[in-house]
Amino acid sequence: MTTDADVIVVGAGPVGSALATMLGLRGLRTLLIDQATFPRDKPCGEGLMPAGAQVLEELGVPLDCFPPLGGVSYRVPSVGCVAGSFSKGRTGRGTRRLVLDRLLAEHAAATPNVELVLGCRARAIATEPRQVSVQTTAGSITAKILVGADGRRSQVGRLMGWQRPPRARRYALVGHLQLPAHEFDGIVVTLLRGCEVYLAPTSRDEVLVALLGPKAGLKAADEPVRAAYRRHVAEAHPELAGSPPAAVRGAGPFWSRPSSVAGGRVFLVGDAAGFLDPLTGDGMAAGLVAARRLASTLAGEPDRAAARYRRWEAGQWRRRVFMSRLALGLTRSSSRAGRAIIGLTRSPATFSRLLEVNDGSRSPLSLTPRDWAALAGI
Ligand SMILES: Cc1cc2nc3c(=O)[nH]c(=O)nc-3n(C[C@H](O)[C@H](O)[C@H](O)COP(=O)(O)OP(=O)(O)OC[C@H]3O[C@@H](n4cnc5c(N)ncnc54)[C@H](O)[C@@H]3O)c2cc1C
Repeated sequence: MTTDADVIVVGAGPVGSALATMLGLRGLRTLLIDQATFPRDKPCGEGLMPAGAQVLEELGVPLDCFPPLGGVSYRVPSVGCVAGSFSKGRTGRGTRRLVLDRLLAEHAAATPNVELVLGCRARAIATEPRQVSVQTTAGSITAKILVGADGRRSQVGRLMGWQRPPRARRYALVGHLQLPAHEFDGIVVTLLRGCEVYLAPTSRDEVLVALLGPKAGLKAADEPVRAAYRRHVAEAHPELAGSPPAAVRGAGPFWSRPSSVAGGRVFLVGDAAGFLDPLTGDGMAAGLVAARRLASTLAGEPDRAAARYRRWEAGQWRRRVFMSRLALGLTRSSSRAGRAIIGLTRSPATFSRLLEVNDGSRSPLSLTPRDWAALAGI
């Protein structure tokens, strides 16, 4: 049997590119395809949590061009603000996707055993006992393994019959604003009535602001999108009122999960394996950590790879669902959020522990009764 590659990775977003790099370094012939050409933008909060930054640093990706993030702050106007720091000197990054995604795709292309093909869309899949064939816009390719790293609306997941419709009616409006010599050094989430305003620094002179919420909370029925975006941004950050965004992009609805993330010779990773709510800002980090796990699983015993990956991934998904429910439960009620802000201000260690649970370096089971009391403002 001859195949074009050991592994085909569909999607050269951060997760697919990082995975292809890891597979190439392990000596697996890897074909990485993407329908887009780079640079290409992608609506995102652009806050890379420390666990994700660590995966990229291990791969030798230079992250110095992205501003460091020291932690996350939550604010409720008229109640107050609480700032949490990433513990043990760990740092996140404000990663402009236009720059990051191209950097990671180029890094993958420069890795031994990796071939990157851009402008190439996967259209159909045929799974056979010993190989997988993918019909693409550039012709048919075959490999022993196929990985769908093709994002929230994964075509690979759909072609496998695994895709299910999104469950939540939450959306986002995303834009970048110029703010010369700003002093933001972390993510700032402001809870307004009806929506959350998520800010991340993306360069010395630029910040990203994403609005998250149900459609009715993001804009009034007859209000133009740009006007609604500027209204919420000015309310949360008056210092940004005079900085119009170059463009405002929409995303959503959120919270989707395929019926399976692995079967036979086909695997899903990153957003393709499930997408929660952007409020927790953990999507890229979770995908990068999963890519690391999948790379080592695929390099091991191929027959047991799908079952092993499914089991590990299910545990990660449960942790992420826990954090999403916790964050959404707090933001839905301003009185609950206010009590949590007061409690976390008194117990900064609890906030740091929650950030560790969020980026996967700590289990939710390690939270103590004292942590829960702080969240309840007791
Ligand atoms: C509003 C919003 C805010 C967010 N905020 C954050 C945040 O602050 N921090 C964070 O970590 N995450 C955040 N996320 C989540 C983050 O954007 C995703 O988790 C991340 O992009 C996942 O990367 P990925 O590589 O799995 O998929 P993607 O980045 O979506 O990449 C998928 C790639 O697959 C390609 N592709 C798709 N279909 C095909 C096909 N058929 N053939 C070939 N190629 C194909 C696409 O062109 C694309 O390049 C946010 C998301 C949203 C929507």
